[in-house]
Amino acid sequence: MAEPITKAWSSERLAVRLTLLFLAMATVLIGLTGVYWIQVLEPRLHADAQVNAGVLAQSHALTLADAVSEADTVRGRQRLLETMDEVLLLTDPNTDTPFILGLRLNVDYDVVRATPGTLDIQRGRTNCDACFVTRIPLYAENTRELLGVATFYSSNAFFERLKEDVRTKLFIGSGILLFALLLVWAAVAGLVRQIRTSERAAAAATRAKSEFLANMSHEIRTPMTAILGTVRLLRDTRLDEQQRDYLGTVDSSGEALLSILDDILDISKVEAGKLTLEMTNFDIETLIHGIVRLMDGRAREKGLALSYRIDEAVPACLHGDPARIRQVLLNLVGNAIKFTDVGQINIAVRPVDVPRQGRADLEFTVTDTGPGIPAEEQAQLFEQFTQADASTARKYGGSGLGLAICKRLTEAMGGSIFVDSTPKEGSTFGIKLPFTIVQQETCPEAGEPTIPETITPLRVLLADDNDINRRVTKSLLSRDGHSVTEATNGREVMEAIQDQDFDVVLMDLHMPEVDGLEAAERIRTLPELAKARVPILALTANIMRQERERCARAGMDGFVVKPFHPDTLYREIEKLRAKGD
Ligand code: ADP
Repeated sequence: MAEPITKAWSSERLAVRLTLLFLAMATVLIGLTGVYWIQVLEPRLHADAQVNAGVLAQSHALTLADAVSEADTVRGRQRLLETMDEVLLLTDPNTDTPFILGLRLNVDYDVVRATPGTLDIQRGRTNCDACFVTRIPLYAENTRELLGVATFYSSNAFFERLKEDVRTKLFIGSGILLFALLLVWAAVAGLVRQIRTSERAAAAATRAKSEFLANMSHEIRTPMTAILGTVRLLRDTRLDEQQRDYLGTVDSSGEALLSILDDILDISKVEAGKLTLEMTNFDIETLIHGIVRLMDGRAREKGLALSYRIDEAVPACLHGDPARIRQVLLNLVGNAIKFTDVGQINIAVRPVDVPRQGRADLEFTVTDTGPGIPAEEQAQLFEQFTQADASTARKYGGSGLGLAICKRLTEAMGGSIFVDSTPKEGSTFGIKLPFTIVQQETCPEAGEPTIPETITPLRVLLADDNDINRRVTKSLLSRDGHSVTEATNGREVMEAIQDQDFDVVLMDLHMPEVDGLEAAERIRTLPELAKARVPILALTANIMRQERERCARAGMDGFVVKPFHPDTLYREIEKLRAKGD
């Protein structure tokens, strides 16, 4: 399963989050205002208005009590009417409506309608449902005798107006707050838009850079195929010692150039978020052993001993990306060999702590007896284009990218990288990685197919539009006894396949007329089964993962990156033959 290594930070997500946050804040603000109004402010206003109405009623109760206590006489009755007229005529100064609508005395009358000037005492009911009602007992001043209970109906107009007033202010306040919130949101959204635009521009630039690098890689690899292939052919001719030495230099320089090219491509892929992890089950011993086998020759050339030790507690079979771990370790071991002149290099694998619940954190270290690195330079080693000291590049070469790539890859796998070094004693570079432990049976069989001592001659159809590359590859294959038929485009491939049988087709992808992918698709649909099933190996200078996937979709069986070592080509052919048997 492939997983993208870097997840680009998305401003789209930020914009959506901001908008949601704004909506949430607006909803909360409106909700809180509503709740505050209904639960707190309105009841409080109502209670205050009621208290006011009570106080007002009370202030009239005494005068009324006086008047009521003398109501038996004609004069007294007159006075009562005047008092009530006065009480009833208290009007709201703003609305001109009676403030006290009426009063009811259980002695004589029920409800008195307030009609200014013409107080008409009659029995009836007030229809003022919304009025504040205050009941006050009336006592005679001297005898304290209960004269009756007056019911005051106070207008709610004042309360309604106050309520209206406060509500309006509250709405205006909330509106201003919402507007301010909207302004902030608009400003932030504008910023996010700007970020998005620059992000898009940056992504386009990164894409352009990746494409440029992929194209350059393709352009450089194509002539390199011819150069390295010719060098290998030349080596098999009769040469004197000096010529052989010169050829060796051309060969190793070519290889160095390719590895720099790979490094630059890798780092640009990580930056563009295009590098993917390919998780699979793998055998740790096979992985480490393979690294040692590959690097042992180089170590020996310098008189160094290369060894490895895997702790007994390390689980044999793990789930991870062995290709990327291998890439990191090869880099570390390569550096150790490059910088060490005497002594030994050891690779060690051990658990960081006891593996539990199907998971294991492992530490891989590469220890050398080289020059070591001063403490002050150690921190920058994992930055791009950094070398411990400036003379390094001159003496040992290198681009300063290796450790930066190791760091990015290790982090992408969820781990960390570290260095521990003492000048003049040596260095230990290490990585810590988390793994899932898997059953031994689920690990693939150890080892790659080896190249047989005697190579079975094969009938090879070689399709490549580049004359020089085709000639070099043909010579390499013919040297080992294979018979090679050439084709320069997909159309010629189809013609050759119709005419003869082949054991394998080596197909360049970029060819005029009919390209390699289309030719492969056409071969797979041939009516004659033996021809339709011929193994097809893609030859390409493009090492991007998408290219590999396109090959697989077109029905190709394998993939060899140009320039290739003859051994790689044979190994791939052997793999295909082993699959076919
Ligand atoms: P380069 O391609 O230059 O080797 P790296 O990123 O792999 O780039 O290494 C960066 C620098 O770290 C090297 O140039 C070297 O100075 C220092 N370095 C790396 N590995 C070792 C080592 N094993 N011993 C001493 N110095 C090392």
